[in-house]
Amino acid sequence: MKAMVLSGFKPVEERPLRLQEVDLPVPGPGEILIRINYCGVCHTDLHTVEGELPKMALPRIPGHQVVGTVEQMGEETSLFHRGDRVGVAWLYSSCGRCRFCRSGRENLCQEAKFTGYHVDGGYAEYMVVPENFAYELPDDFPDEQAAPLLCAGIIGYRALRVSRIKPGEKLGLFGFGASAHVTIQVARHWGCQVYVFSRSEEHRRHALKLGAYWVGAPNDMPPEKLDSSIVFAPAGEVARQALRVIDRGGTVALAGIYMTPIPELDYEKELYFEKALKSVANATRQDGVEFLKIAAEIPIRTDIQIYPLEKANEALLDVKHSRINGAAVLKIG
Ligand SMILES: [Zn+2]
Ligand SMILES: [Zn+2]
Repeated sequence: MKAMVLSGFKPVEERPLRLQEVDLPVPGPGEILIRINYCGVCHTDLHTVEGELPKMALPRIPGHQVVGTVEQMGEETSLFHRGDRVGVAWLYSSCGRCRFCRSGRENLCQEAKFTGYHVDGGYAEYMVVPENFAYELPDDFPDEQAAPLLCAGIIGYRALRVSRIKPGEKLGLFGFGASAHVTIQVARHWGCQVYVFSRSEEHRRHALKLGAYWVGAPNDMPPEKLDSSIVFAPAGEVARQALRVIDRGGTVALAGIYMTPIPELDYEKELYFEKALKSVANATRQDGVEFLKIAAEIPIRTDIQIYPLEKANEALLDVKHSRINGAAVLKIG
């Protein structure tokens, strides 16, 4: 099969992914083989190929927003049939036994494996996944529209919950890429007033189109204090700004897997009066199931830019430079 393979960590400008012919993976017990139609491109893929996350074993095929159809079932499988449409997200497996797994927090499992990071992912024609970690996708979404829901959407949904935002409250979103453009649709559905902070004029326009109440640059002060904020930008100084714009008792959720150091905080201005700062680490299958249900109810519409598989480097470069309105998606099948 064809795959875009990472053999060495490099800035994406140096085209770290190479199109290669690799062996078709074989599903083991409990696993299914998926023929991939589309795979979303996530900011995390960029951190992965550039080596900003703890380094995993190479070579590796990235990609964790996979939409495809079941091609073959391994032994001891029972959930899917050949031809079923399925999705694969970032959480590839968890141990199921540790105290985190047993208390509904498999996102924190220390033995968790992540798609396109510990195991090969979706920048390829096929992949295998444990059937318990594959998602049934709502019929309402065409494949290419569904792909960005699987990480941008699910992580954004978890970030909303971590931010403790309630219906009708004022929510700040810092950075307006793939995840924020889905998250705003959930927040608007809950009747929240959404304030969007972005350096990109193009992204601010996109936010207004999706119903933002107010838009500004990352350092602008909004006209009123906000109840909660979510930081999607991987920049530590933005986290500090997000703390400044929330009101007493508010929460800032940091949605990224990677962030530059957060500058020194001023206790009085930025943390006092019971402000909370909380990171979002991965997501559980429960988050995925809940979010996909809500996504179909709203219904969420994703804005996408499609690239052929062999242009994965170019897609990552456009993500890096915020040149995409919405999400980048690779067309494979
Ligand atoms: Zn576990
Ligand atoms: Zn992701």
